[in-house]
Amino acid sequence: MRIKLDRTLCDGFALCAVHSPEIFSLDEWGYASVVGGNEISEADEQRVRRALLDCPVHAIVELSENKAARIPAGAPTPRGAR
Ligand code: SF4
Repeated sequence: MRIKLDRTLCDGFALCAVHSPEIFSLDEWGYASVVGGNEISEADEQRVRRALLDCPVHAIVELSENKAARIPAGAPTPRGAR
């Protein structure tokens, strides 16, 4: 799986780093970034999916094969998207 973390949406809840501390690193203000690239190994996939689903602001999305962002069910529609 491939993911993308939108740091402009991240609100520093840190849930991603709780689920996958080896994938998500928090800066000194608690904002997350992806460590080691956006390609997630099968071994880490389940925990990253949990992080993706638990992120309160849906800052983490899974990228489909054609690299378009796959928005989690129940997530608000991004501005400008229809
Ligand atoms: S769970 Fe979401 S909002 Fe919280 S630190 Fe991670 S990406 Fe940011």
